[in-house]
Amino acid sequence: MQKILIVDDEPINIKVLVDLLSPNHKVMVAKDGEQALKAAAIDPKPDLILMDVVMPIMDGFDACQRLKSDPETQDIPIIFITSMGDVESETRGLELGAVDYIQKPFHRPIVLARVNTHLGLRRKTLIIERIASLDGLTEIPNRRAFDIRLDEEWRRAVRGGTPISLLMIDVDMFKQFNDNYGHGAGDACLKRIAAALANSVSRPGDFIARYGGEEFAAILGNTNRQGALTLAENFREMIEGLAIVHEHSNAGPHVTISLGAATDFPLPNDSLDDFKRKADEMLYAAKNAGRNTVKAIDD
Ligand code: GH3
Ligand code: MG
Ligand code: MG
Repeated sequence: MQKILIVDDEPINIKVLVDLLSPNHKVMVAKDGEQALKAAAIDPKPDLILMDVVMPIMDGFDACQRLKSDPETQDIPIIFITSMGDVESETRGLELGAVDYIQKPFHRPIVLARVNTHLGLRRKTLIIERIASLDGLTEIPNRRAFDIRLDEEWRRAVRGGTPISLLMIDVDMFKQFNDNYGHGAGDACLKRIAAALANSVSRPGDFIARYGGEEFAAILGNTNRQGALTLAENFREMIEGLAIVHEHSNAGPHVTISLGAATDFPLPNDSLDDFKRKADEMLYAAKNAGRNTVKAIDD
């Protein structure tokens, strides 16, 4: 069920809207703009907000402006539903980013139809965003999602003065695997590796993605060099432990991975590209050291 937040200071308006929408939707109520900001921040976030304009404490325009300027809430569609029917008010509401503007007194079937239109669009948007961030083969986050997340975690580390680690992970001798067992077996192998990696992290700052081809990456927020090394070594053992037979690898009888780790306490002017390059260099060093190996910067 999709979630609708109704924001109005008049009990009678709230009652009419709740009666109209609650049979088919999950409905929440806030009585002024300030309460609306709090309610909109609770997960799972509302899929739609119906917002009155004239309210005590904080009015609907003000609340809309704040919701639209917070990355956490800016994508929630807002419909103004208000007695302010003049052109200036409607223009202002739409320019603030509302998807629609309904005048009171309203007609129930029209409110229902407009609400359903916007809930349908919201559902499609969420599906498209999900698909756009997942890798088609392995169903774990893709390179695009990785880039966005790394940027976020990097900035979080700068703000918090906390460490961040990055693991670059590459399957060993994978060309040989494909050449000998076929592309289908190669695909199945990548899926197993992706699932194993993704299922083995649990902290909220941890993020595993398919970086491309047979390369994966792990972003480890608030993790120092020792923590990154421990996790990398666990990954290495875990993949070896899957015991996927690979008779044509010079790194062992099974499929293995090599890992490069970089750790930084980033300062505001530090380069994220340099950080990524360090992890890549360490991956290269792990390959040169014979594969099925972890290398961390400052080894
Ligand atoms: P190294 O140990 O040095 O990493 O050698 P490698 O053979 O793993 O590396 P190389 O980059 O030479 O080959 C990577 C292979 O991975 C070649 C490519 O066909 C295969 N590959 C990349 N993406 C996919 C995929 O989606 N499915 C399959 N089956 N194979 C893939
Ligand atoms: Mg490889
Ligand atoms: Mg590779």
